[in-house]
Parts: sequence; C-alpha cells; structure tokens
Amino acid sequence: MNITIDSGSGFCFGVEKAIEVAEQELSDSGHLYSLGQIVHNEEEISRLSSKGMETINHSYLKKASRTKVLIRAHGEPPETYKIAKDNNLKIIDATCPIVIKLQKRVKRAFDEMEKVGGQVAIFGKKNHPEVVGLAGQTGYMAIILENIEDARNMNFEKPLRLFSQTTKSLQQYEELVSFFRDKYEEQNNSGDFIHYNTVCRLVSGRADDLKEFCSNNDIIIFVSGKNSSNGKYLYNICKLANDKSYHVSSPAELVKEWFNDVQSVGISGATSTPEWLMEKVADKIRKISLH
Ligand code: SF4
Repeated sequence: MNITIDSGSGFCFGVEKAIEVAEQELSDSGHLYSLGQIVHNEEEISRLSSKGMETINHSYLKKASRTKVLIRAHGEPPETYKIAKDNNLKIIDATCPIVIKLQKRVKRAFDEMEKVGGQVAIFGKKNHPEVVGLAGQTGYMAIILENIEDARNMNFEKPLRLFSQTTKSLQQYEELVSFFRDKYEEQNNSGDFIHYNTVCRLVSGRADDLKEFCSNNDIIIFVSGKNSSNGKYLYNICKLANDKSYHVSSPAELVKEWFNDVQSVGISGATSTPEWLMEKVADKIRKISLH
C-alpha cells in the first residue's frame, strides 16, 4: 500500500509562528498561559500542555495579574489588551499578521460607515475567536453573517462593507457577494456595496492542489480537530473530489475496513494540523495494512 502525506498540508505560517513563540517561552520559563486554545487541535494542545502551557478563558484573564499571556493567531478584540494593561499582564502577541491587517481594515471601514450611516458585515462563524476579534474593532456593531439566510433581512438601502473570516470557504463567500451585488443593483445603488476578499490564500489557495491530490489516491484520510473551520472547509473539498475521504482527529479513529483492497492512501490536514500527527496516522495505517 502506498501512503503519501500531502506536501501542501501542515501548519500555516500564522499557526507555526504562534507555536514557535509559545515553545520559546516554555523553554525559557516552563509555564505560559494561552488565552483560548492555541490551535484547534487537541493532540497539539496536549503536547504543549506537557511542556507547561495552560489554556485559560476570558473570565480567568480578568482575575489574573503579573503574568505572561499568549494571544494566539486568531487575534483578540481591543478590550483584551485593556484588561491586560489594567492587570499588569505581559502580552505575548502571536496574532497572525494577516489577521492584524484584517482587524485594521475592519476598523477603518467601520469608522467610515459610521459617518454615513452605513454598515459593516463579516461572513464568519458567530463565536469564532477570530470573528470576535474582528467584531470587537467595531464595538460589536458589525453584522455577523453565517450564511445567505442571515443576510436576507438586512437594509440594502444603507452602504455596506463586507469582509470574510480568513478561514471561510471562498466559494461560499463569493455566493454571498453575488447575493449582495444583486440586491444593491435592484436598488440602483451598487456603488454603496464594497466587498473585500479576505479569505486567507493559504486556505483558499490550497483547493486546486488538494482536489488533484484527492483524485490521485484511492482513499483520503483528512486529519484535523473537529472544531477547525478550515478543517471543515478543506475536508468538504476532499469529499467532493474523492467520496472515499474520511475525517479523523487522531490515529485511534482509523477504521481497519476503510483500507480493504486499497492501493494508495493520501493523508492531508488543515492549517492547524501538525506534521507529526499526520506521520503518526501514516504509521498506524502501515500497521493496519500489515494485519
Ligand atoms: S490561515 Fe492564514 S490568516 Fe489564518 S492564521 Fe493561518 S496564515 Fe494567518
């Protein structure tokens, strides 16, 4: 049986940088608080926990003082920085540079829209940390759209600036854009609608290569945490390209029967899936194929 790990998979540079920063701190001091899970991958979190990383939530942050707290690649809203300042916390900021840029654009658009009675909308998952960080730039006035249904009751007479969470599906975002374009054209005010393509290229740019990888293998094992947004998006691409695609978060979830009469297995993962975990999945498949 031929087993190949997708060369385009593994951590994106935003997550890689956050983990590097965390590992550096952990080797210097043996302990670090991470505000929220550093990556949506339980296996990687337990690896870092064994080195002294502790995941805390926002209620804990309010009570903490005089310690170091890591902000992960997803970023945080402005009030987190204020709490940190008030509580004498040292922030280790590992927000992805792409997310920082997006936060600034959302803030600029909101300031502009406020002057003209317009609105800012973000296509994303309501409680996703990146979306909370983006909405925080607008004092939580931005409209969060999970799908086109959420957009139907909006006021199309008001100017609109539209953004996307970085890890959403580019295709779904384009569908939403075309929905708004039609609505604004119907009102003869198409100039009032401006959208920004803020889906991260490291997620959307993988689609074509991933499709090819999936069709070149008999079955696909896609490895990612069940909460990972880009994991869900990329797995859907796998499933469409090869219906023998299976989603697992660890080697323990592999099922022996999937590998009956299979010649080639492709292993791929999300931007939050560590390389070592895909290697472990490959080892387990090798063992399965020997029995
Ligand atoms: S997916 Fe893109 S925007 Fe998100 S953390 Fe990775 S590099 Fe940054």
